[in-house]
Amino acid sequence: MSKLISSSELLNRISDGLNPTYEEACQIYLELENESDKLYKVANLLREKNKGNTVTYSRKFFFNLINLCRDTCSYCTYKSEPNQAKLSMLSKQDIKESVKLAKKFKCTEALFVTGERPEQKYQEARDWLKKNGFSTTAEYLIHASEIALDAGLFPHTNAGNLTKSEMSELKKTNVSLGLMLENSSNRLSQDGMPHQFAPSKNPMARIKILENAGELGIPMTTGLLVGIGETPFEIIDSLYVIKKLHERYGHVQEVILQNFQPKLDTPMASSASPHERYFKTIVALTRLIMPEMNIQIPPNLSPDSYPSFLGAGINDWGGISPVTPDFVNPEHSWPKIDQVERNCLDAGFHLRARFPIYPEFVSFVNPDLRSRMLEIADTQFLVSKEYLK
Ligand code: SF4
Repeated sequence: MSKLISSSELLNRISDGLNPTYEEACQIYLELENESDKLYKVANLLREKNKGNTVTYSRKFFFNLINLCRDTCSYCTYKSEPNQAKLSMLSKQDIKESVKLAKKFKCTEALFVTGERPEQKYQEARDWLKKNGFSTTAEYLIHASEIALDAGLFPHTNAGNLTKSEMSELKKTNVSLGLMLENSSNRLSQDGMPHQFAPSKNPMARIKILENAGELGIPMTTGLLVGIGETPFEIIDSLYVIKKLHERYGHVQEVILQNFQPKLDTPMASSASPHERYFKTIVALTRLIMPEMNIQIPPNLSPDSYPSFLGAGINDWGGISPVTPDFVNPEHSWPKIDQVERNCLDAGFHLRARFPIYPEFVSFVNPDLRSRMLEIADTQFLVSKEYLK
């Protein structure tokens, strides 16, 4: 039997270009869990090598199109019931007015978010769709995206498990789409687990949709929710699922790592958020497993420590809105963009605004969308500094 090499030696080899296997990533986690600085150092080096010292964000406006949802995840406070004050069902007029506000604040991304196929469960959703002239949420999303695009915003839709033909239609107006894998483990859908009442979170269903997006050539944002009862090995397995999808289709534009935050009005209200060292170790491992990937953490979910994640391998802060709340984490407002920029500078990084598509994926979108972006893009296909002045 061959002798296993040490984790320190593995890290040296990874610094020199070795792609670790699942088993090697698990070994590193197990052996270096308490010496995480070694891990951060290599993750930082790989980020520097592949992404330099630029860190990006997308200046977004969050369109909470409809937050009724067919499913129930134990951690979700975004989902509303029809009688709740937080219910959101935007009319076409609401969208048009929001688009004007978004332009006023120089947002470039129109983030459209909905619950999972609300019309399958709620008469209220069917009535809302009918009143606006549609029979499905996906049809409405297509129309809403057109409104936003015509006004000079760039849509990015995150509406759960869309069909292949729905995604194909949305591709005409959306520069990218989003679907969190959350985790590849079926265990999290078992009785008493957070996805028990959320069939759309079945990992195989989500993987199939990410495959469909790959076949359609759609740049996808995906990622994991960390700290919902998974094991570290399930997280590592999930990262390899994403890595393989990207190796096959080349369409995963970023991996979001979101640290679970308990919400008062949910069944997981008393569950703790993941320990910061565990979360940061996962972030660093992600960089080791996918050295060239865009890796993002949301700064509002680590408000006191987010700059330190730059030293664990991230290169993006995701969407930050100067005007709308984070409806998924309403108790965590986004930091001011100026402050994020100062914090990045203090850590030796330049903050730049990107579109909801990363520059290296621009060739995926149709010439019309590309030429619209070019009007406000710089030579690197980031949002020009002049536009944001
Ligand atoms: S996380 Fe998404 S699918 Fe789950 S309940 Fe909330 S809106 Fe529905």
